[in-house]
Amino acid sequence: MFLKIIFILAILYGLYRLFGGSFKLPTANKEKKEIEQNTLVECCKCGVYITKKEAKKKGECYYCEDCA
Ligand SMILES: [Zn+2]
Repeated sequence: MFLKIIFILAILYGLYRLFGGSFKLPTANKEKKEIEQNTLVECCKCGVYITKKEAKKKGECYYCEDCA
């Protein structure tokens, strides 16, 4: 009986280690953040489109590197 419990725990631990990465929520959050970072925004000054990652935000406006 005791050995059975250890055996089951070992299997559960193995499964946990196997799928551990995909169960974590932060991974999904990171992906969401990356998508947001790659969203195109318009520069308030020259109108060029840049990704949010490259844009400099001032108040409600985004600026490209040249205008910032
Ligand atoms: Zn600009």
